Amino acid sequence: MEVCVIAKCTYKSETIMFSVSSESSMVDILKTLCLRFRGLQLGCFTLRYSVPSYPSCFLETDSDLDLMRTFLLISNEKTVDILVKDLCGISEYSGDFCVNKELIACEKGESSCSSTVEDRNEFLGRSKRASAKPLLSNEWETYIHHVGQKFDGGAEEFRLKLCKYALEVGFNFLYAGNDKKRVVAVCSNKKLEGCSWRVYASRCEATGSFVIRTLNNVHTCAGRIRESKSKMMRSRVVSSLIVDRIRAKPELKPVEIIHEFKDYYGIDISYYHAWFGKELAKLDVHGDESKSFNELVWYADAVKETNTGSLCTLDCEAGINRFRRFFVSFGGCIAGFQYCIPLLFIDATFLKSKYKGQLLCASGKNGNQGFYPLAFGVVDSETEENWTWFLQHLASILLPMGRVVTFFSDRNQGLLNAMGFVFPGWPHSYCYYHLKQNLISKYPKSGYGKLLQDRVINLFSRCAYAVTEEEFKVAMDELVIVGSSKVKAFISDLSRDHYANAFFKGMRYGEMANSLAESFNNWVGVFRDLPVLPLIEGIRQKLMVLNSQRRIEAEKWTTVLCPEMETRLCENAEAGRTWAVRRSNCTVFEVFADYSVMVDLEQRTCSCRLWQIDGFPCTHAVAAILAKRDSVYDYVECYYKTDFFRKAYESPIFPIPDIGKGLGSNGSAAGVVLPPITKRPAGRPPTKRIKIMSRNYISMLTYL
Ligand SMILES: [Zn+2]
Ligand SMILES: [Zn+2]
Repeated sequence: MEVCVIAKCTYKSETIMFSVSSESSMVDILKTLCLRFRGLQLGCFTLRYSVPSYPSCFLETDSDLDLMRTFLLISNEKTVDILVKDLCGISEYSGDFCVNKELIACEKGESSCSSTVEDRNEFLGRSKRASAKPLLSNEWETYIHHVGQKFDGGAEEFRLKLCKYALEVGFNFLYAGNDKKRVVAVCSNKKLEGCSWRVYASRCEATGSFVIRTLNNVHTCAGRIRESKSKMMRSRVVSSLIVDRIRAKPELKPVEIIHEFKDYYGIDISYYHAWFGKELAKLDVHGDESKSFNELVWYADAVKETNTGSLCTLDCEAGINRFRRFFVSFGGCIAGFQYCIPLLFIDATFLKSKYKGQLLCASGKNGNQGFYPLAFGVVDSETEENWTWFLQHLASILLPMGRVVTFFSDRNQGLLNAMGFVFPGWPHSYCYYHLKQNLISKYPKSGYGKLLQDRVINLFSRCAYAVTEEEFKVAMDELVIVGSSKVKAFISDLSRDHYANAFFKGMRYGEMANSLAESFNNWVGVFRDLPVLPLIEGIRQKLMVLNSQRRIEAEKWTTVLCPEMETRLCENAEAGRTWAVRRSNCTVFEVFADYSVMVDLEQRTCSCRLWQIDGFPCTHAVAAILAKRDSVYDYVECYYKTDFFRKAYESPIFPIPDIGKGLGSNGSAAGVVLPPITKRPAGRPPTKRIKIMSRNYISMLTYL
């Protein structure tokens, strides 16, 4: 038997009755109502029904209807009162809920008026009504709601939440009183329209938290619409929202922040607020930049305590205790460096923090051709005195190891002087890449100048790479003729002993350029605009992870040589498979390639000179070794072997927890360490004009 109830529907003063069966749908009911009640407009009413204890239940969807029927059935009711409520003029409803959609769809004939109702948006293509994207700011609406509400973060938290609340709700406020103990805010329309919105919060002396004491949360001013630009979006608000982002990604740019705010919060912020918000967030994350120098006192001790064998020095101006320079080399790196190729790439890179300065680095190279940062320093500039100080520290690491390394650097005069002073007679190679750039800069970039430049650079490269003095001389003579006065001036103060293969005294292991130091600069790039302590800590943490990864990686290696070098050795062996090799005595061989060369296995030389230059058996040498039926590996430098690589990473870099920082004595015995005198001009950032591209539109915004 079909279950049927009688619905008594009342609209204004009229009531109609109709039956609701188990087959009836919401659309049927709405259609009936629209037909029977004159003046009832589509999309402008809601339905409520009442059952005992629940006087006002919504009746909007088919499932509401099902529930109503079930309830009536179990409570054995045969009738139900339904109230039709007009929505016109009531602003709290947007007029977009399912009643309307169903009705509109029904009227347009898009639906068969069955209980399955189609969504018109599905058919409107590009014209469809976009639904609101949920924004991260949506919850701000709940930030201020009742008297007695507590803010544990005190006045700061209260003010911040008040700003966010006003932003999301869509009004501006003014402070009628604002200090550490109490905050009173009124709607900015109070004067003009007499709006009565007002909040008063004050500090609870016992707990230090802020409590809302009075709140009139109703606006009597004109309607409020949340705007994308708001005076409430202050730098403090920006900072509070990006502080975690800055922690994870210190290099975040103000322009990126502007984009993220549009995307996450639907808010346009000015470049100034983004920039200043970032500065504030950096302060929160990394602390005050000027105080960072004083923290180095703690850090230097912490390094020595946690990483035994480290060398770490903080140098301050005597008397006034002002920061001068800092040097650090971690114990793990020092222990491992003796298993690396004896090369050191010395370079300096600019720091971008408030106090500027330079980061000095000395990096070696592991057997797998990867870079191996050994030491770094922070100084104000590349002076001879600073370089001397840095190199002296380096010497105190290298000299006890009892081995000579080959240095690579650019031709900074301060560094050259310091090098001659601290490491007299040690092989020192100028970076070929820097020399080339130097020479290029002397020629125009286009037209005939460009052609000449290419020719000069080509000849210069031949000079640098030439393996014999004769080859060098031929190339150099031609270079001087082609390049004339410019080249003469360039080479007049450039000693060939420091860059040309044919004349270089010492082992360069096939290296020509300071490319490793360049890659180290890229590697530390993200830390360069941080204060001094986070800069050094950032590098240490990255180094710790890198060394750990390499240790794990090397555990999997099964070859005698590091993979990179094993491959090179195989290639060299392949190249000489077809060559004839004749023996002269037990260690000297003649190898017939395209031309013939002499290989001396005892002296480890080949007349092609590549074995001597690279420190790695050349194709001819490998052919001779194989002919002698020796093990090729016996002729390879131990630095290239897997077991040396593993030893280089055996000693880890240890964490430096800062959980105990600031608990002990503050500052050195001589007092607080002062920051260096800054050379940066003070003031606001320059006016910027930025192009913003958000998801939906492109607009040009001018700020400041
Ligand atoms: Zn108001
Ligand atoms: Zn050779």
